[in-house]
Amino acid sequence: MTQTVKQTVSYPSYPSNIESIKKLKFAENTEFRATLNRRVDDFFQTTGRQKRDCPQMYLKTAILVLGFIAIYVSLVFLVQEWWQALSLSILLGLFMDGIGFNLQHDGSHNAYSNLSWVNKLMAMSMDLIGLSSYYWKMGHTVLHHKYVNLTGYDQDFEFGIFARKTPFQKRLPHHRWQHYYIWLLYGVYAIEWSLIRDINNLLSNKIDYLDYPRPKGMDLVIFWLGKLIFLTFAFGIPLIFHSVWNVLLCYGVAIFNMGFFMNCIFLLAHEVEEAKFPMPSEDTGMVENEWAIHQIETSVNCSFNPFLNWFCGGLNFQIEHHLFPNICHINYAYIAPIVEKTCQEFGVKYQTNKSLFASLSSHFRLLRRLGKSSSTL
Ligand SMILES: [Zn+2]
Repeated sequence: MTQTVKQTVSYPSYPSNIESIKKLKFAENTEFRATLNRRVDDFFQTTGRQKRDCPQMYLKTAILVLGFIAIYVSLVFLVQEWWQALSLSILLGLFMDGIGFNLQHDGSHNAYSNLSWVNKLMAMSMDLIGLSSYYWKMGHTVLHHKYVNLTGYDQDFEFGIFARKTPFQKRLPHHRWQHYYIWLLYGVYAIEWSLIRDINNLLSNKIDYLDYPRPKGMDLVIFWLGKLIFLTFAFGIPLIFHSVWNVLLCYGVAIFNMGFFMNCIFLLAHEVEEAKFPMPSEDTGMVENEWAIHQIETSVNCSFNPFLNWFCGGLNFQIEHHLFPNICHINYAYIAPIVEKTCQEFGVKYQTNKSLFASLSSHFRLLRRLGKSSSTL
């Protein structure tokens, strides 16, 4: 086990708006971050590699988008047997993840292209798979990325009453079984997100518990247009050709599979035993480490085979992603040795799990421990 938390755990009150979140400060930068940035910049200059607009990324985009269209058309217009519908629904969910992991994720971080409209277009692919890019931008690229693993700031850890995912969240009796039932909720999560949560945020002027203005102008148009297009493709068109039950079943399988796989890939970076869960000082409001070291100690990489690495948008290189979110993920495997070597020189812990199974097992053990006792990690 990597760390121990004091026996008495105090549960911090959550910030209620973006202004109070911005008051949180990290320790001052040291030579570490400057050295890291310089070495990574040198790498791109000496190799001539492009940080963004990588040809491999455009090829990947074509493969994922054409694959998605082919699967959808086959599912709605060509399928004859139930097992074909089931297989294609599972595949459709995976391709929705592929679009999310690659096009949408890089686009939302301005890592896809040097052209802002290309990034915006890619980020909007999230609206087409049923989830609002407007709320994702704030929830992921700001709150999660800047304040990763800080309870109350990083909303990726908020699962309502259903799970206790950090030592600073209150433990409830049913959490003792959370490491078993959470996997089912990971699938249901995407259904709730696409049909309820975005609308709830819009109506309440919040992102979950944080005050946050609802989209206006073009952002509002994109929000509603995205929902309309998604619902048309998920229900409207299929219902012309198939029964309600068949459509609901295929929708459920596709979205459940999308949510389950998406959660498994995102959680392996931070919601594992090896990651730290620091809290800012109650007196100074400061995080102990400088920003870059905080990112590294709260993130864990995972060894993937080349296909999984390709399909999951380099999300197994979460340390590199958190340090350089606006560099296209195609480059992460190449800069990882530079980051790891620099960490070794400066005594910063750089961690990698051996496989997807090892990461998911670590997540299971973390949830089991957090669910069993309210005081220790
Ligand atoms: Zn990200």
